[in-house]
Amino acid sequence: MIEAPTIGVEGIYQASGHLSGFSDPLTSCKECKEVYRADHLIKHIIEVPDALSNEQIYKCIQENEIGCPECGGELSQVYEFNLMFKTMIGPGNKMTGYLRPETAQGMFINFPRLLRYFRDSLPFAAVQIGKSFRNEISPRQGVIRLREFTQAEAEIFIDPRDKSHPRFAEVADIKMRFYSQAAQERGEAEEMTFAKAVERGIVAHQALAYYVARTYQFLLAVGVAPDKLRFRQHQSDEMAHYAADCWDAEVFLDRLGWIEIVGVADRTDFDLKAHTSVSKVNLSVFVHYDQPVKRQKLVVKPDFKALGPRFKAKAKAVGEALKALSPEELKGSKANEMISLTVEGETIEIEPTLVSFESVEEEIRGEEVVPHVIEPSFGIDRIIYTVLDHSFYQDAVDGEPRAVLRFKSAVAPIEVAVLPLMDRKELSDTAKAILQELRTRGMRVDYDTSGSIGRRYRRNDEIGTPFAVTVDYDTLEQGTVTIRDRDSMQQVKVPRWQIADKLTALLCGLLKFQDAGDLVASGKKE
Ligand code: AMP
Repeated sequence: MIEAPTIGVEGIYQASGHLSGFSDPLTSCKECKEVYRADHLIKHIIEVPDALSNEQIYKCIQENEIGCPECGGELSQVYEFNLMFKTMIGPGNKMTGYLRPETAQGMFINFPRLLRYFRDSLPFAAVQIGKSFRNEISPRQGVIRLREFTQAEAEIFIDPRDKSHPRFAEVADIKMRFYSQAAQERGEAEEMTFAKAVERGIVAHQALAYYVARTYQFLLAVGVAPDKLRFRQHQSDEMAHYAADCWDAEVFLDRLGWIEIVGVADRTDFDLKAHTSVSKVNLSVFVHYDQPVKRQKLVVKPDFKALGPRFKAKAKAVGEALKALSPEELKGSKANEMISLTVEGETIEIEPTLVSFESVEEEIRGEEVVPHVIEPSFGIDRIIYTVLDHSFYQDAVDGEPRAVLRFKSAVAPIEVAVLPLMDRKELSDTAKAILQELRTRGMRVDYDTSGSIGRRYRRNDEIGTPFAVTVDYDTLEQGTVTIRDRDSMQQVKVPRWQIADKLTALLCGLLKFQDAGDLVASGKKE
């Protein structure tokens, strides 16, 4: 995990291509001057407008007679707008800087440090969570489109000669709906295992498929609804210029339709090579072969017997300069052509007869490679919004509406609510002892005494608390407490001394609620 600066010098974004290419297509109303994302205006006509050129978007606007959404006025030609926020670094306006539009570049810039940290061997990865900044044209969809949003990105640097993944077997049998390029043409995602998807070439290789699978597992684990989640492959003309294959996790939101929340791309060696070309810093890795490879190599052999008397003290330097020449080039030059050398600032001409060539065996231990990069890029704000959206539902209990957030325990702000039936000392002493015990176990626990027990259940349902522990007079007389399950509203009675263990097992999914204790309330009434 690294934390790179949020402001970067111009060279970084010149190298990454953001300066020239990180823009959105705009159109403005000729009447009221309001500005719009041109691709958004045709989204109801074309599902993936990213694949269209500006001219094609404009043509679509004209052909469908789309006017200004505000006043109906005529819309202008489509033009590009760079999304980066520009600033000046230091006094005197001498150095231009930009707020980072993605966290990724900070990890490429730190590649030499990361490589050293990982002892010069592939594969390795860096992750970063932090703010990214984009001068969005119409940030009008709450946290879905912000000018300042939180990204979590990983750059996984791999050997480009082998894109298998050592842990692929762990995800090979997981089934998922793949909305591949071909499936998009048919209009229907296809369900298959990750092993099949790689075997059929639907996902480019194991390394990419592995991180798509892990992303899929993560999204389900935090509570994205499986029936409102799909992985869509970028169309070839939609794919970023550097990407070899790219899959977006898209979720369905009632108000907005399908929205991208995570992108997983094979960025190849584009970024590292681009940074090398601007910074002149070598960003390659020396990869050792398992076994050294032997190879015949042609070398230049200077005729020292002849060079010695002729160049005296300089003879050694002349010989070294001759050895440094390319034998292939020397061999290729004409027989009578003099060899020209610069030795200690002096230009020297030598007859080609003073060199011969020899084939020697050389041992090669490895080679320099520029790693390829797999990048999962998570939009945290969008994921949180999706989890809220997909977790919320309403039902009715005793004719009263009940609002529930069906949070997974892992993301519930409060995992357990400890509720004494009444705010009386004999009950609250025991309830507070339970509260303390659960907190010591590391659970996120809340204690609530205000209002009727029914109201307190409702309040906890509304904030997504998976379990409530009720302390009543049975606790004092029989040593039992009840655990209430948020979703089924069922209640089980368990011995007081078992409460921490049972809740630990329930929260991590090792114990089913029905098996946690004796059922005392069916959940139909509260
Ligand atoms: P991108 O680099 O455009 O693929 O973005 C990576 C992720 O960041 C997306 O999948 C989104 O979840 C998120 N994201 C991109 N732009 C915004 C934005 N303006 N507001 C909130 N999240 C965003």
